[in-house]
Parts: sequence; C-alpha cells; structure tokens
Amino acid sequence: DNPVARKPSWIRVKAPVDPVYHETRNLMRENKLVTVCEEAACPNIGECWSQRHATMMIMGEICTRACAFCNITTGMPNALDDDEPARVADAVAKLGLRHVVITSVDRDDLADGGAKHFARVITAVRAASPETTIEILTPDFLRKQNTLEVIAEAKPDVFNHNLETVPRLYPTIRPGARYYQSLRLLDRIKQLDPSIFTKSGLMLGLGEEKMELAQVMDDLRIADVDFITMGQYLQPTVKHAAVDRFVTPQEFEEYGAMARAKGFLQVSSSPLTRSSYHADADFAALRQA
Ligand code: SF4
Ligand code: SF4
Repeated sequence: DNPVARKPSWIRVKAPVDPVYHETRNLMRENKLVTVCEEAACPNIGECWSQRHATMMIMGEICTRACAFCNITTGMPNALDDDEPARVADAVAKLGLRHVVITSVDRDDLADGGAKHFARVITAVRAASPETTIEILTPDFLRKQNTLEVIAEAKPDVFNHNLETVPRLYPTIRPGARYYQSLRLLDRIKQLDPSIFTKSGLMLGLGEEKMELAQVMDDLRIADVDFITMGQYLQPTVKHAAVDRFVTPQEFEEYGAMARAKGFLQVSSSPLTRSSYHADADFAALRQA
C-alpha cells in the first residue's frame, strides 16, 4: 500500500535542483537548526528552500504530543538550548529574510509550554533583523498560565495557530488538543494586542463536511482571526491517519471564495497550501495594500 502512488495529478512536487536550495540546507546545518520543512516531509521544500524560505522549528525535534497527522517524533524532549535564539537570529539575518515563520514542537513538559523561549527568539530576531516581519506558529499552551501575555509583549507581527480540522474530528486527529482552547488562544492574543495579525490553518481531506468547515470559518471570524490557510492533508506514513479523500483544486477555490466572503483579510486555499507556504509573499502584499 503505497500512499505516494495514489496521489492525484494536482499533488505535484518539484525536485530540489536549485543551488539556493543547497545554500539554505547548509545554513540550517551550520546553525544546527531544525526545520518543519524537513521534519514534516513537506512537499513544497524544493520550491520554498530555493527561495530561502525555511520554517525553523525551535525547542527541539521531539514533541510531547502525538497528533495522528504529524510526522514529528513523540517522546520526552531535551532541555531548552539557551543559545537557540541567537542561532535562529543569525540564520534569519544570513538568509536575508523579509518575513520569517518560526514554529515549535509542543512542550507540555515545560511550566510555560515554551512561551518565554518563543519570546526570546522573537526578541533576538528583531534585534538582528529589524526589518524582518516575524510570524510565529505556536502550540496550544493547553493548561499553561500567562503564556499569551509573554508572547504578546514580544510583539510578533503574525500569531499563527492552526485549528487543523473541524471539532468533530479532534478526538481522532488531534487527541491531545481541545478545539475551544485553540480558538480561545487566537481570540485572546487579539484582545491582548489588536495590532498583531492572527492566522489559522486547516487540513482538508480528513473527512470534514462543507457545513463543518463553514462553521469553523465563522468561529475564526468571531475570534477576529485575520488570515486562513487550507491545504490537502497528505499521509506522512502508513501509521498516520489515512486520507479520507483528495479535495479537488476547484473545491479549494470554492472554499477560498467562501473564506473571502466571510471577511478574512488573506486567504490561501489550494492542495499544496501549508501554514507557512508563501507566507512571506502574502504578508508583503498585505503590507503594501
Ligand atoms: Fe517549509 Fe512551509 Fe515551505 Fe513546507 S510550505 S517547505 S513547511 S516553508
Ligand atoms: Fe506534530 Fe504539533 Fe501535534 Fe506535536 S503538537 S505531534 S509537532 S502537530
């Protein structure tokens, strides 16, 4: 049973041939940085890395959660590395990024879920590259106190947290997470600092219904979420949740139109859309608008 062989024609991945791809790869190695691009086996890596667009994953490569769609290793993570903020800042400066996306594994083992570490990374990147806009894609900080205050104070330009799927599918797809907690996170960060853009993403093709998606979009708009991303779920290995179906490019367009009609400022909806896909170009376009 080879999931790769069953992908439809519109899930096409370009092989990484561009020399810039290798430069990006080497810089990540030199700075001992982990990327979600590699860890999640993202299909866009050839395209993104050829444009120096790599999404760095902080706080290690081992996650305390085990989401059914995710390729990251589950286990007990290592202690935080105090040098990591400087290494991330150095890499962002060397890549010369106008926009950077920084994400992390979930750290249920830490008292603050890693919020202070996120803040340190933002501060270090800001100091080294004041012109670069910073997007963070965070875990849900379930059952942690005062985490969002710390993050809001560090002032990322974009706060991104993915709902991933519709609430009915949480027990099987995101068993360690709670739909309401994720929604509340987005809601609260906006209340703490309305100047921070908020963003969330969904994977389609897991068995969600159109009406359920419409409801999630409404929930996000009520929480004043600005940007939405929707992409096809791809099964990383046969041990992960199976693809229920491949959503057609036309349906992605329809969902995108639905999201725009509901008032999202920025909508990215296509089979290969990922939370960080084209985030740099999209954000630059928004700032010029
Ligand atoms: Fe990395 Fe995001 Fe591009 Fe995938 S879409 S390669 S995760 S930057
Ligand atoms: Fe993957 Fe994030 Fe779930 Fe951890 S919390 S398993 S990194 S999706």
